[in-house]
This record gives sequence, C-alpha cells and structure tokens, in this order.
Amino acid sequence: MAAIFAYKCRKCDELHEGSPSFAFDAPAPYRYLSEQEREEWAELGDDLCVITHPEGTQYYVRALLEVPIHGVEEPFLWGVWVSASETSFQRYLDSYNKLPEDLIFFGWLSNLIAVYPTQKSRPADVHIQTDGTRPRVRLHRSGDESDALVIDQHEGISIARAQQLAEQALHGIQA
Ligand SMILES: [Zn+2]
Repeated sequence: MAAIFAYKCRKCDELHEGSPSFAFDAPAPYRYLSEQEREEWAELGDDLCVITHPEGTQYYVRALLEVPIHGVEEPFLWGVWVSASETSFQRYLDSYNKLPEDLIFFGWLSNLIAVYPTQKSRPADVHIQTDGTRPRVRLHRSGDESDALVIDQHEGISIARAQQLAEQALHGIQA
C-alpha cells in the first residue's frame, strides 16, 4: 500500500500531498443561527457543540468520517459533526475519563458535504475511540442504497475518484 496520496491538481496545477482531509468547524444548525442566537443559545468548542433552543437542547459531537481509498493507507477524511441524544452526549463526555462499556451511539450526520449532495438526513453509528482520537462515523446503509457518500464509505473509492472529489472540494464543484 502506498503510504502517501499525492496528485498534481488539475484545477490549480499544484501538487496536493497527503490523503485529502476537509473539516467543518461547526454543525450546520449552528451556522443557521443568527449572531445573537449564537450568543444566547450556543456553545461551540473544537469537539462539542450545544445549542439550547427555547424548544429544546441539541447536542453535537465532532467526529471523523473515513472513506477508504483503494491501495492507499490513509483514508479520505471528512471532519464532520454528528448529533447525539442527551444520554449519548453525556456518555461521550464521560468517556474522556473512563471508557464506557458501549462505545457506539446513534447520531445524524449534521453537515452538508457539497460534493455529496443529498436531500435526506444521514443516520450513522458513531464509534467512540479507545485511543482518544475523535469518534468515527459509520453511515447506515439501506438495502437499496443510492447515496454516493454511503456507498463510497462502505466500498471505498479509487485513487482517481479521490483526486476528483478533492479537487472539487478544494476548488468548488464548478470547473
Ligand atoms: Zn488544487
């Protein structure tokens, strides 16, 4: 397996090295809030986000969604946020001190990835890691799955597709 993924970008002509990695600094619902709502309702850190709406509290956890690249050791990485129930959120917080027996919680993917457009919400299992790294997201796959992101995560992608996705994510979908 090649350790390092590198390609000469067709859009900017530069050599991009290392497996592609893109991250969102906040869950989408946070971005939709006004400046004032953020101040009044939201707490956003590097790994956690809590939005205390008048109607109820929403919990989000920063996680990693890995898409394997065939023949390359390091996966394509999406730094995404997932929702968590209050119970799951507390379990995740507690895991900083002591690993829980159940390392998996349910969450909804809470970012829109432009190169993987969808109209649907994406359910996932979120796996708390025993080595202290960010939790890993495993998207649910249905029997007749048509969501390209789900298929890519479960089946992996070619180096050519990884390059194409990275170019689009870096420089915009439009050529
Ligand atoms: Zn480029």
